[in-house]
Amino acid sequence: MNITKLIQAAVNESKKSDLTEWQIGAVLVKNGKIVGRGHNRNSWKSERLSKQFGFPLWSLHAEMDAVLSADFGGNILFVAGRKKKNGNLIDCKPCLKCQKVLKAFGVTTVYYQNRDEIQLMEL
Ligand SMILES: [Zn+2]
Repeated sequence: MNITKLIQAAVNESKKSDLTEWQIGAVLVKNGKIVGRGHNRNSWKSERLSKQFGFPLWSLHAEMDAVLSADFGGNILFVAGRKKKNGNLIDCKPCLKCQKVLKAFGVTTVYYQNRDEIQLMEL
């Protein structure tokens, strides 16, 4: 598993975001292969997931988008993002809501871009 390459795949995914300031991307991996891809979205909501997790989901974070896009669950998630204005990498530590959702979907490990380093989070 090439961590740098998978973080780069998350960066590429972030470019699809419709947000104009912070663009975040994520890829979900199982057995070294990408099984899900996601990016943060403005125009999205899910009554079902809001009910399931007990908080309103009126926008979609990249981490959640990646797990929801996967037909088969993965256990390792890679997250990275950029400032749209200049392409600079930004801190992408998953928020508490995402951590809760990721755990529920069987994700155990997250590698996220934190400015110039890649950080590891065990869930
Ligand atoms: Zn989040």
